[in-house]
Amino acid sequence: MHSTSTLRTVTGPLSPEAVHGPALAHEHLVLDLDRTGDGSAVLDAGRHTPQVCSELSALSEEFGLSLVMELTCRGMGRDPSTLAEISRRTGVAVVAATGWYYEPFHPREVTDLGVDELGEILVREIEDGFGGSGIRPGVLGEVGSHGDVPSEPETRALRAAARAAVATGLSVVTHAQLGRGGPAQLKLLTGEGLPAHRVCLGHQDLLDDPGVHRELAQSGAYVAFDTIGKESYQSDATRLRLLLALIEAGHADRALLSCDISRHAYLTSEGGQGYGHLFRTFLPQLRAAGADEDLVDLLTRRNPLRFLTGASVEEI
Ligand SMILES: [Zn+2]
Repeated sequence: MHSTSTLRTVTGPLSPEAVHGPALAHEHLVLDLDRTGDGSAVLDAGRHTPQVCSELSALSEEFGLSLVMELTCRGMGRDPSTLAEISRRTGVAVVAATGWYYEPFHPREVTDLGVDELGEILVREIEDGFGGSGIRPGVLGEVGSHGDVPSEPETRALRAAARAAVATGLSVVTHAQLGRGGPAQLKLLTGEGLPAHRVCLGHQDLLDDPGVHRELAQSGAYVAFDTIGKESYQSDATRLRLLLALIEAGHADRALLSCDISRHAYLTSEGGQGYGHLFRTFLPQLRAAGADEDLVDLLTRRNPLRFLTGASVEEI
């Protein structure tokens, strides 16, 4: 058995063997998606970081939370130095991201540049780090599209991400708006030579279609149940039914779990479900439905580590 590759966190390289507790596979710790000016789709580095830190510290203490995949990318208000500060203050490892979100949030560069140039921007950021900070992304994501087929600019952003992933050995997480377009995203990404096991299709818990989940997992790709607790989009009861169906079909090793905290109102201090909703509410429901601790460890620790490093099931 050869040793698996190293995780790239905001505080430096980390061996997957050193990650003993669960991970959150799709979160935001600092972000700005505010398009209306009401400030709701914001996690502000000044105002909200103390609350984010106290949530993560509590989860580390209570549930052993060990890793957060922070998928705020270009044009989403990404802030790598604050991520490093949060990681140091809480002791929770954070993997930062690069890429482009879906079309309404594309910055000018996506409008102006072709796939080659976009791919070069990503490769440069992965190799050299974020603007001289020395902090490097450890994953591509959340690279997005909306609808059943990505738009032309979204297609370029997805192809560029796939090329950068192939060139650098990172994996790609997608944003599939309302769970739609996963199969088309996978086809585009693998069409650039990226193996399916290097792809995670995002927000699949918003799509009530177990057949699509099975098809994606069968190809070797990861299927994200990553908006757990967002009851206005989907009930957790439906999420649980869909996850159990995927597990039942033999694909427990392809599911990734998270809450996608993307507004300050989702923080527990503001009465929201918080980053801990997965551990405090959803996993107890999964256990009640028959999941044992080995399955929970697979879903919340081994799967994200294997996805990030590209390892096989024999390795992690
Ligand atoms: Zn997200």
